[in-house]
Amino acid sequence: MDNNIASRRKAAAGNQAVQISATAQAEMIDAAAQKFSELFDILHIDHRADHNTRDTPRRAAKMYVEELLAGRFSPPPLITDFDNVAEFDGLIVTGPIDVRSTCAHHLMPIYGTAIIGIVPAADGRIIGLSKYDRIVQHFSSRFQIQEELVKQIGEHLLSTTAPRGLAIRISAVHMCKTHRGVLASHRAKMVSTVYYGVLKSDAALKAEFLQECQTLEQGSVS
Ligand SMILES: [Zn+2]
Repeated sequence: MDNNIASRRKAAAGNQAVQISATAQAEMIDAAAQKFSELFDILHIDHRADHNTRDTPRRAAKMYVEELLAGRFSPPPLITDFDNVAEFDGLIVTGPIDVRSTCAHHLMPIYGTAIIGIVPAADGRIIGLSKYDRIVQHFSSRFQIQEELVKQIGEHLLSTTAPRGLAIRISAVHMCKTHRGVLASHRAKMVSTVYYGVLKSDAALKAEFLQECQTLEQGSVS
């Protein structure tokens, strides 16, 4: 294995993002396509003549590097923030935000929704609403387990926006559970929530957040 790939692999240990150049990304796709071809040989899948699978090793390599793992090879989205001129310090809830991720244990899709609650600091900064969607997309584009995904989103938002309170709730279907193994119902979801600051310590705020989650997930307007 070439040294570059070895050192990049080391830097990326622990699911942390690692910045790579466009050239390094192209090399990564070439190397991954080669390995997918070898895997197909092992599995007796014809990737040379079969019209369905002829281009699949390269297609799959590109998909992993450019899409499923994009959040490992790119920086988090730039946050444009605004002064909180109205000194709003109540609860803001945004969502549902679509979650599309890949299970780190089985490489199967995880799909569902995230809802984020924010209590901004009156003297702090607030960020554009679409940035929450982009941050969820960024951290979802890695091999993940849901418990870590929800914390990565929470800790990133804490360190970049310093709100008084924050809550992230993800509700998702894990296809490693619905398409193999126990063959669970497609309606079986995993819900995980993290709370910080006043959303952790204030029971009334937490209840208000959970009530808003219910309203937003039902798609009803209140
Ligand atoms: Zn899994």
